Amino acid sequence: MSDLILKPGREKSLVRRHPWIFSGAVRELLGKALPGETVTVRDARGSFLASAAYSPASQIIARVWSWDEQEAVDSRFFERRLRAAISSPYRQEALRNTQYAIRLVSAESDGLPGLIVDYYSGFLVIQSLTAGTEYWKAVIVQALSTLIAPVGIYERSELAVRQKEGLLLVRGTLAGETPPDRLEIEESGLRFLVDVKGGHKTGWYLDQRESRKLVKEYAQGREVLDVFCYSGGFTLLALEGGAMSVVCLDSAAGALELLGENLELNGYSPEKTRSVGTGGPPDVWILEGDAFKVLREYRDAAKQFDLIILDPPKFAHSANQVERAARGYKDINLLAFKLLRPGGILFTFSCSGAIPPDLFQKIVAGAALDAGVEVQILRRLSQAPDHPVALNFPEGEYLKGLVCLRS
Ligand code: SAH
Repeated sequence: MSDLILKPGREKSLVRRHPWIFSGAVRELLGKALPGETVTVRDARGSFLASAAYSPASQIIARVWSWDEQEAVDSRFFERRLRAAISSPYRQEALRNTQYAIRLVSAESDGLPGLIVDYYSGFLVIQSLTAGTEYWKAVIVQALSTLIAPVGIYERSELAVRQKEGLLLVRGTLAGETPPDRLEIEESGLRFLVDVKGGHKTGWYLDQRESRKLVKEYAQGREVLDVFCYSGGFTLLALEGGAMSVVCLDSAAGALELLGENLELNGYSPEKTRSVGTGGPPDVWILEGDAFKVLREYRDAAKQFDLIILDPPKFAHSANQVERAARGYKDINLLAFKLLRPGGILFTFSCSGAIPPDLFQKIVAGAALDAGVEVQILRRLSQAPDHPVALNFPEGEYLKGLVCLRS
């Protein structure tokens, strides 16, 4: 095995067990290594630090597999790590369900940098994002087949980060059957159709499961605006919680088509959901459009809601986009506060890892100030426990949310 030798003093983050090695910290590679091969990382004096996957095309030139000099990185290693990830209590609880959808492996946070494994009603959908996971992909697929015995394993390795690793974007069936165009999953007692082959991410925003559940508690009798609604996760939970009406807004036509199907699947027929009525079933309005534009139009029309959900896509993909992203968050939160009646509730989120929770809170506070409203935080929200945060990898905490009350 080749040795990756660090510059003097550059081992500090590794001693704290942070799993990334940046190219600037490396003095030299002794020997040869192909992309994804395992290298031994040593400090400038030659002491062992870790075994890591070599990724020469990336700024993160290596990602740690193991901190134990005695632990070989082989097929048994992957089996062990995968088994450990799957046996996490929250995941085990979900696995007892028949049609669950859950993240089984969350990359660095589960000691497997670059690997995402999601379970959807018997199928696995994986994302291999680094040279290391790519190198071991066949081994990982084999181990997952043994551990879970899924109907099929489908790959959605289409994230731009793969390009930084010098990898092409790929999707397709890796083992067993190809998933159907619609897979039915259960979440919080509701049924949802998911397109794991063509939907966003691996098909469903699994990380928002717990926050969606919470929306149900606040929805009774409220007029709801679900901004960035995707296929209706928050919308359906709000309806279950007794919402009087819901306006659902997203720019993705495919996601909204699924939303319509999900409403029907749960007994909200199209006639009932798109009509204006009083005293009857809740009215649901599905709107395709740009949130920034529609919220402005609503503000100009002086529309008001009692519960608003703002769950935008990632605005900051890296540290140098933080300022622009902050303006975007401020803009939509300001608009949302203007649309919120006194006594109204705002669920507001940011999934940008580059925006830390305290900065997000400041942005929301600035928005409230500019909107001229007084606001209290009732709760702080984060990603669901199948997206855990390893203490040695704080970057794993990317999703934050605030439940705000306008007085
Ligand atoms: N709330 C959803 C997840 C939202 S993800 C859930 O719980 O499942 C962000 C969504 O924002 C995506 O569905 C995406 O299509 C949508 N989106 C991105 N840019 C948008 C824009 N400018 N206007 C409206 N929707 C947008």
